Amino acid sequence: MFDLTDKIALVTGGNGGIGLGMARGLGQAGATIVVVGRNEEKSAAALRQLQSAGVRAESLPCDVSREAAVQDLFARIADRHGRLDILVNNAGSTVRKAPQDFTLDEWHQVMDTNLTSAFLCARSAHPLMRAAGAGKIINIGSILSVFAAPYAPAYCASKGAIVQFTKSLAIAWAGDRIQVNAVLPGWIDTELTAGAREQVPGLNDRVLARTPAGRWGVPQDLAGIAVFLASAASDFVTGTAITVDGGYSAS
Ligand code: NDP
Repeated sequence: MFDLTDKIALVTGGNGGIGLGMARGLGQAGATIVVVGRNEEKSAAALRQLQSAGVRAESLPCDVSREAAVQDLFARIADRHGRLDILVNNAGSTVRKAPQDFTLDEWHQVMDTNLTSAFLCARSAHPLMRAAGAGKIINIGSILSVFAAPYAPAYCASKGAIVQFTKSLAIAWAGDRIQVNAVLPGWIDTELTAGAREQVPGLNDRVLARTPAGRWGVPQDLAGIAVFLASAASDFVTGTAITVDGGYSAS
């Protein structure tokens, strides 16, 4: 039910953090992983980690916020593999500032990285998945899809929108046997949140106090949900958003 042998999985931002944790899970379930990121050194290091864990993996450089680059990326996937079964829209970033201090460029940078990239990749994945007769798309939101933070207006807007975008894709493409779901991670220890811990006073203590599991998550905590949402086990699950947060949103 969870076997991903012969599946091709593209993970944006799969070269670090949560994306790499999910890539490892998908790869260990049998999928061939295509890691996508901008930093080629980081991608090469991620490939070494995946391959030493027994995962078949390759990397392609791409800035997924740029339309032409995404079109080129999917053309290369079509050339190399002739198919795509699983797309994980995970690439993300933030700018931490009060709303009144945001520039328009900063706003666009966060929205394009977190939201527009998911649209561009899903749009390019659709014909490949349709031709294959099925597909799985996993969009990474956040608990900030639901709660808000005063220092992250664009991030909260982009992550809230990911949930609605997910529902729209799910109902549009259900007839093509493409399931589309969102995952909303809680506080996970990665490069992204290392910055937050430095910049937001008291954040570490607040996270620990409010997370019933009593710890920060680690990227590997997202591996199981990725395998579930990428596999036949979730064929009747579509248009939903699943939190993986150690109980944070329940408390
Ligand atoms: P990281 O910063 O560790 O990883 C983000 C990855 O995205 C990097 O590997 C980066 O690679 C890639 N990336 C960023 N921008 C682009 C781009 N324009 N094109 C291609 N790749 C890009 O962050 P996390 O692992 O923490 O975050 C992963 C996802 O999970 C994000 O969407 C984030 O919002 C979400 N999330 C994280 C939480 C956490 O607590 N960590 C909580 C909730 C959600 P490169 O620099 O090589 O491009």
